[in-house]
Amino acid sequence: MVVKTSKGDFSGEIGFTSIFPQKQVEEQMAFPYLKQHFIGWFVRTENAVFDAETPLFMDFRVQQRNNTRFMYVLPFSPKEALVEYTLFSETLLEDEEYEWEIDQYLREMGAGSVQILEREKGNIPMTCFPFKQLQSRRLIYIGSAGGWTKASTGFAFARISQFTKQLVSHMAKGKPAHTFDIRSRYTIYDLIFLDVLHRRNHLGSSIFSAMFQKNSFAEVLTFLNETGTISGDLKIIARSRPRIEFVKSVLFSWKQIFRVLFFSGGRGRV
Ligand SMILES: Cc1cc2nc3c(=O)[nH]c(=O)nc-3n(C[C@H](O)[C@H](O)[C@H](O)COP(=O)(O)OP(=O)(O)OC[C@H]3O[C@@H](n4cnc5c(N)ncnc54)[C@H](O)[C@@H]3O)c2cc1C
Repeated sequence: MVVKTSKGDFSGEIGFTSIFPQKQVEEQMAFPYLKQHFIGWFVRTENAVFDAETPLFMDFRVQQRNNTRFMYVLPFSPKEALVEYTLFSETLLEDEEYEWEIDQYLREMGAGSVQILEREKGNIPMTCFPFKQLQSRRLIYIGSAGGWTKASTGFAFARISQFTKQLVSHMAKGKPAHTFDIRSRYTIYDLIFLDVLHRRNHLGSSIFSAMFQKNSFAEVLTFLNETGTISGDLKIIARSRPRIEFVKSVLFSWKQIFRVLFFSGGRGRV
């Protein structure tokens, strides 16, 4: 394996890449590809409008405009917070659209004059595309490029650090890197959930609202962090609404479920 760079060539037995294979993911049609995209403002407001003890995980009171759209609010004090306008959808917006929504949200809150201390912007892939099929014995896809982002939520940090440790210990046991496998029962649930969100993007708010209304916050987080028991997970799945859409997605996605379950991944050659 040789990597050619502007600072010279580097060689090794195995290469790890975190360059997201945008083209391959966009060109395939089998696996839905949504994005978690957002702009966030770190603000200082004139009025004390934030409850520093209560972050808002997904505030769906914003106009949905046929998508899954919500505000994420992480307060640091009554007058300081990160306010992030987020979508789970296929198409990005113009920057002004995200910013208009944040401005509107703060106005409706009665924030008064607002000082923007910092801005952040992101676009995280949400897909169950089997990234492993791109890799070989010598080129290993890691991070978002390896499908390590949770497809149904875009959660990345915790999973990437967890899978990095697991990959290292997998290799430390003398196992080839390309046989490292991140699939679990949650991969199938993500696949079905993402199919519902992809087909019926405007239902995101009611799907997530039902999830939080019918289960405790701790139960939902345990499920989303993939640390639940099978019986706990089944309870959450059984309470998913609208049930008919989940049933349809199971029926529509059987080929993808089959591929994810039985495809061992990686061409396994140099
Ligand atoms: C503003 C913001 C806030 C976020 N907040 C959260 C959060 O709260 N929780 C969470 O879980 N996730 C969050 N994320 C997402 C998280 O940061 C990413 O999902 C995560 O960093 C992906 O890790 P990675 O290693 O796959 O890729 P990256 O961290 O993007 O690393 C990829 C690396 O590859 C390099 N690279 C890309 N293309 C090339 C090329 N052609 N040649 C050479 N090098 C290349 C890049 O420069 C980069 O260094 C956030 C992202 C952003 C932008």
